[in-house]
Amino acid sequence: MFLKNYEYWFIVGSQDLYGDETLKKVSEHSRIMTDEFNKDILLPGTVVLKPTAKSPQGIRSLFEEANANAACAGIITWMHTFSPSKMWIQGLTVNKKPVLHLHTQFNRDIPWASIDMDFMNLNQSAHGDREHGYIHTRMRLPRKVVAGFWQDSVVRRKIGVWMRAAAAKLDGMNSVVLRLGDNMREVAVTEGDKIEAQIKMGWQVNTWGIGDLARRLQKVTDAQAENLVQEYTTSYELTPELKNAGDARNAMLEQAKIEIALKEMLEAENAGAFTTTFQDLHGLPQLPGLAVQRLMEQGYGFGAEGDWKQSMLTRCAKVMAEGLSGGVSFMEDYTYHFEPGKEAALGAHMLEICPSIAENKPRIEVHPLGIGGKADPARMVFNAAPGDAILATLVDLGNRFRMIVNEVQAIKIENDMPKLPVARALWKPYPSLSEAAECWIYCGGTHHSVYSRALTAEYFRDWALMCGIEFVLIDKNTNVNRLCDELRWNDI
Ligand code: MN
Repeated sequence: MFLKNYEYWFIVGSQDLYGDETLKKVSEHSRIMTDEFNKDILLPGTVVLKPTAKSPQGIRSLFEEANANAACAGIITWMHTFSPSKMWIQGLTVNKKPVLHLHTQFNRDIPWASIDMDFMNLNQSAHGDREHGYIHTRMRLPRKVVAGFWQDSVVRRKIGVWMRAAAAKLDGMNSVVLRLGDNMREVAVTEGDKIEAQIKMGWQVNTWGIGDLARRLQKVTDAQAENLVQEYTTSYELTPELKNAGDARNAMLEQAKIEIALKEMLEAENAGAFTTTFQDLHGLPQLPGLAVQRLMEQGYGFGAEGDWKQSMLTRCAKVMAEGLSGGVSFMEDYTYHFEPGKEAALGAHMLEICPSIAENKPRIEVHPLGIGGKADPARMVFNAAPGDAILATLVDLGNRFRMIVNEVQAIKIENDMPKLPVARALWKPYPSLSEAAECWIYCGGTHHSVYSRALTAEYFRDWALMCGIEFVLIDKNTNVNRLCDELRWNDI
C-alpha cells in the first residue's frame, strides 16, 4: 500500500492562556486520536501528530516544515480549544499543502452531571473551530471542512477521500506525462495549455519521439516476450489460435514486447502516464492495445490520440483508488441505446480499456483495426462490471480548466455482441441519458473521460479544489437550466 507512505500532518491549535494542565490534556487527546486514525483502514495515509500550535512563530514554522517535507501530502487542522486566528495568518499565507479542517471534539457526549467551566474551557471546538474557519474564509483559502464526531465512520470516510485526493495531488506534482506523438490531427477537445496544467496540477507534460520506443522495442528479446505471455496465460483467457504458433500468437507476442519496451521507457523517464496516437506509429508494428491495457492495470494513466489531460486524470484516479475495488479506466462515449425505458450509453475505445473494471476474466483476441493502417493488434475483450460509477473529464476553456463529473449507473450487459471485438461498458447516466448528455455538452465535456466504480464525485471535487480548478457535477439532482446558470456564474 503505497498510500501509507504519504503523511498527513495533524496540527491541533490552542494558545498559552490555558495553562499547562489544559495543554497537557490537549496533547493527550490528540495523541489518542492520531493512534486511532492510524489503525483505521478508512484512512489510507499516515497521520503524523505535530506539537500543539500555540504561537504565530510556532504555527508558521510548522507550515514551512510541511512545505519542505516531500512525504507530507496534506494538513489536518483542529482547534481543541480556542486558538486566536490572527496567529495563523503567517502560516496559512506560506502554506502550499492541501488543508482539511476537522471540526470535531474529543468527547462525544456532554457529561451532564459533572460538566463545569473547566470542562467547557477544555472542550470548546464549537467556538474555536468557528474562529479558525473564519480566517480561511477571510483569506479566501481552499480547504475541506469535515464536521462530526471523530470516531464516526462517516467522518472518517470523508477524511479518507480527502487523503486520497491529496495523495493524487502530490503524485501529480512529481509525475511526467510521456507523450508519444502529438494530438490527433484537427481534434480540439484533446488540446490544452500544458503550462497552465503544470502550474495548477504540477503535471509535467512532455513529448518523446515514437522512434525512442521503436528503438527500445527492437532490443526486447523473444524470450522476454514469451515470459510475459506466460503471465498473460495465468491472468486472462486466450482464444484458441493464440495458444499455438502462428500470426495471431505473434501479434500477441508483439504486444508483449511493446509492453516491456514502453514500461522500460516510462520507468526511465519517471512517468506516471502516457499517450499514444494512431497517426504516429512509425517503427511500431501495431497500435499498442493489449500493452496499454496491461500498463493501465499496473497503475499508469493513459490517454489515446494524444489526450494528455485524460491520461494524467486516469493516473490521478488510479492513485485515489489504490486498494479499493471497482477499477479505473480511460473511457470514451461511443454509441447510444435510445429504446424508451432502457436508455443507455455504450462506452469503449478502439482497444484501450483497463481490465480493472472487468466483470469476468478478460479474453485476449486478435482482430484487424480499421484505422491506422498497421498490423492486427491483440487486445483484451470483456464487459465492465455493473454498479455505481462515475465519469470524470477535464477540459481547457482557454482561461481555465473545468472538471466535469457525471454520476452513472453501470448496468449489466445482457446482449452478446459477437462482432464487437473491444472491451466495453454500458451505463445509464444521471439524471437521465438525454439530460446528462445535454449538460455534458453545455459544459464542453470531451468524448474521452475517466471511468471508475471505485470512486465517487467527492474524490474529484476534493482534488479539483486542491488544484484551484472549476468543478461541475451532473447527478440525480441536476436540472439542465440550473446547470446552465451555474456555468454562466462560473464564467463571471
Ligand atoms: Mn478516442
